[in-house]
Amino acid sequence: MKSNPPGPKARKVIARDSKVVSPSLTRAYELVVDHAKGCYVWDIDGNKYLDMAAFVAVASIGNSNPVVQRAVEKQVKKLTHPAFSDFYSELPVRFSEELLALMPPKLRNGRVFLSNSGTESVEAAYKLVKWNKRRKWVAAFNGSFHGRTMGSLSLTHSKKVHRDGFGPFLPAIHLPYAYCYRCPLGLKYPDCGMACIDVIEKKLKEKPISGLFVEPIQGEGGYIVPPKEFHKELRRICDEQDIIMVDDEVQAGYYRTGTFLAMQGFGVTPDIVSMSKPLGGGFPMGATIAPKELMDWPPGAHANTMGGNLIACAAGIASIKYARTHKLGQNAKKQGAYLLKLLKNLQERHELIGDVRGKGLMASIELVKKAKKPAKEERDKVLKECLREGLILLPCGESSIRFSPPLTITRKELDIAIPILDSALSKLTDKK
Ligand code: PLP
Repeated sequence: MKSNPPGPKARKVIARDSKVVSPSLTRAYELVVDHAKGCYVWDIDGNKYLDMAAFVAVASIGNSNPVVQRAVEKQVKKLTHPAFSDFYSELPVRFSEELLALMPPKLRNGRVFLSNSGTESVEAAYKLVKWNKRRKWVAAFNGSFHGRTMGSLSLTHSKKVHRDGFGPFLPAIHLPYAYCYRCPLGLKYPDCGMACIDVIEKKLKEKPISGLFVEPIQGEGGYIVPPKEFHKELRRICDEQDIIMVDDEVQAGYYRTGTFLAMQGFGVTPDIVSMSKPLGGGFPMGATIAPKELMDWPPGAHANTMGGNLIACAAGIASIKYARTHKLGQNAKKQGAYLLKLLKNLQERHELIGDVRGKGLMASIELVKKAKKPAKEERDKVLKECLREGLILLPCGESSIRFSPPLTITRKELDIAIPILDSALSKLTDKK
């Protein structure tokens, strides 16, 4: 590190930012990024950081990957915007074909709706379940995050600030998400997970429900991995009650947990899938995937201006190929298991770490005080201290720290990251 962040150049940008940018953005600390390569990021003052966030699970194939750069350079000279809702174009078709080829068998002959973000991919799924079932209500989970536009926000439940002042919402019920560390029913795994299922089953019967929206692993809510059988039970309930199961893979998908869809790792095939974040190789891209029997709406029922953008499609095709040929799913499994082991070792030495959880390269530690009280201030201090020492980590949930590095991460880099976190946690305890 050349200077303590924010350095002199960063401070100037932040001062200008505070005058013109919406204050609703959620910066955990003052990092002004300049460029990035692989698993490393440089700030505007020349400081180098190890990236354990992949710019919020987007840079999955590594930052500034040359295969994406080449694909973008080639396409930018030809055409960027094909107005895909109004004209035909080959690249978005190819991208959709390649995406479908990675889906579980039941979805492989399906259809893709292309958009530009996670929230749009959820909005399309929301409209699709309403279109098919014509029932007033949808269902989601406590602690879930599905986006911030009004349809997806009606589902989102992870933080009060997301919803405060924005009601009334669309009719949505919220169900308990099996989370055994902080079980709302005071039970322990596996009783906890299955008790949630009983509640879910009953609550879904109380209203006419079109679709059940679920994250395979809750992301913004705290990187929470439900018990093994949880999603299988949801699948059974949806089948029995004729509810469409929507799998929000925006954060957990794209090989992050090993399989292309995280839901495949739970042995479950959803009805509709929403994806975004890494999908466009770093360019804005959202996709909603459904069987053709469900995506049977007529022209005009749903469309947009920018979906199918050619730069995003070119980057997306190059990115998918890279992830497949470099077996990033296998690396996510292997390095994820090693990361979890390192975090569990850390937990033994730091009382502040209440819970360690994860699947593949989607892992988190939850910092707690006595009686599992969230240690939010402590968490924020640890994040800032890590940054000062050259490690980028992001928060999630009330008091958790998430690990969502590029899927290209190596053991060597994890061995650099964890001692930095260790020392930040020790400094905090020493100061007390
Ligand atoms: N769904 C999930 C699971 C997410 O994690 C997010 C964003 O973090 C979204 C939807 C919304 O995505 P976006 O911010 O691109 O609208």
